[in-house]
Amino acid sequence: MSDLRDLYQEVILDHSRRPRNFRRLNHANHRADGYNALCGDRITVYLQVEDGHIKDITFDGSGCAISKASASMMTAALKGKTIEEAQALFDKFHRMVTGESDSEVGPVNLGKLAAFAGICDYPSRVKCASLAWHTVHAALEDKNEVVSTE
Ligand code: ZN
Repeated sequence: MSDLRDLYQEVILDHSRRPRNFRRLNHANHRADGYNALCGDRITVYLQVEDGHIKDITFDGSGCAISKASASMMTAALKGKTIEEAQALFDKFHRMVTGESDSEVGPVNLGKLAAFAGICDYPSRVKCASLAWHTVHAALEDKNEVVSTE
């Protein structure tokens, strides 16, 4: 795991050790399950959406430190956002971790999520970082199958 040392920035470590919003949401009106077969990460994302806003968002499941930290930071970033803002963040985050240019995305502020910028140098870890985002995307579209990163 030593080659991953650079990835484990302080903020990622903190969120993997003490994940935020790590619980089941009993009054969720959207949910989806995600599975990253490459690493074995499993996640369920729960959302309470009202009037086009993400009023509450939580997750549970089990996975590696990166998948857990990414899910934790995602829930913190998306809480209170509109669906459109969430979609814009998803697009921007996805471009960042896959190393694509984000010049067309516009002024979306990733904030602490920028901690994952270096992950595009570790292709096997990109799916760990993006699993939660793909899962929340499916939850908002009410897809009922398990999301796979394959
Ligand atoms: Zn993983």
